[in-house]
Amino acid sequence: MVNQEFYHLGTAPSVIRQLFAYGLQQAAVVGPENVYDYSLGNPSIPAPAKVNQSIHEIVDTVDSIKLHGYSMAPGFEGCRNAVAADLSKRFGLDVKASELFFTCGAAPALISIIKAMIVDSDSEIMAIAPFFPEYRPFVTANGGKLVVVPADTKAFQIHLDAVEERITKNTQAIIVNSPNNPSGVVYTEETLKGLAALLERKSAEYGHPIYIIADEPYRELVYGGVKVPFIPCLYKNTIVCYSYSKSLSLPGERIGYVYVPGFADDSDAVYAAVSGAARIMGHVCPPTLLQMVIERCAEERPDLVAYDENRNLLYNALTEMGYECAKPDGAFYLFVKAPNGDANAFSEKAKLEHNLLVVPADGFGCPGFFRLSYCVANDMIKRSLPAFKAMIESYK
Ligand code: PLP
Repeated sequence: MVNQEFYHLGTAPSVIRQLFAYGLQQAAVVGPENVYDYSLGNPSIPAPAKVNQSIHEIVDTVDSIKLHGYSMAPGFEGCRNAVAADLSKRFGLDVKASELFFTCGAAPALISIIKAMIVDSDSEIMAIAPFFPEYRPFVTANGGKLVVVPADTKAFQIHLDAVEERITKNTQAIIVNSPNNPSGVVYTEETLKGLAALLERKSAEYGHPIYIIADEPYRELVYGGVKVPFIPCLYKNTIVCYSYSKSLSLPGERIGYVYVPGFADDSDAVYAAVSGAARIMGHVCPPTLLQMVIERCAEERPDLVAYDENRNLLYNALTEMGYECAKPDGAFYLFVKAPNGDANAFSEKAKLEHNLLVVPADGFGCPGFFRLSYCVANDMIKRSLPAFKAMIESYK
């Protein structure tokens, strides 16, 4: 007998992985140039040159025992100091190394803070649709309740009235992901200020802080000069989960952090609980080599030219054909309305008739839409356009 909840999580099919596997299988049959795979959010631009240079330098110069040894549980001072200095400079805050807890990417960062926030089986964590599907098991498998705020399917901002209706005395936190996976939308400062005012009012009403968990792996992936507000500057009770998976194209290296601002309510207790949660997950001492890389590369930013070209090509071509899309200012996703409102049927037909792989958004809490990950070769996008055209024509 094994734990049934984990058994089901371990055997539940992932739509994204199934599409990806289908693409690999079809590539062997029809040739890779005839498969248009928009399923996975795996970065397609290389890590900045300084990352690989730093790895060489570190391997050549750092004592082998230190290089391959454990770090302190929350990460090395040097790495945390470098990131704290960069955040302070960029956002005008006095971020301290002691407020950062390094993790193996955003997923363990999120799970640590979610665990820290779930105090009993009544604890509620909110997510705003559309949202990263893993939020659901991250909350429920840790004993909490996930409360979903329905999507604003016009601008993909946040319906504040819908948030207010769902806040109860058990609301511990709301997860805010901007730039958003899957919509590609960046929440505006006006939206976030409105949310901050609402949460301040509700926290006072219920007599305890309602935190924002800012899930920010796409913070640096933004186009056309759009600014991504840094939420701790707008709302003090914000805990940031960050990752270098997308910003430095390092998803396989597993490195990121939790930032618990010293000015947040009960910040010492929150930090300690994050540390305790990471401990029982076994997610302490993230990779030493990568911490040393981040120490040297804290100020590196991605070169977004290739993603921006893909974004413009796909957005312009699809909207010209008649598809309806949220305006994608960030991340590397395009969120498209299925022509007749049935995204599952659209995805299946596109797959079988054109080897065009798009992800229906039911798992993202937003049925009727599908997600395209445009972190792909520009050439593949060009080759896929006739398939998109044939698909929309078939619905007319
Ligand atoms: N949060 C969001 C919104 C994501 O899209 C992802 C990964 O795709 C993660 C968290 C997890 O990122 P990581 O690879 O750093 O664990």
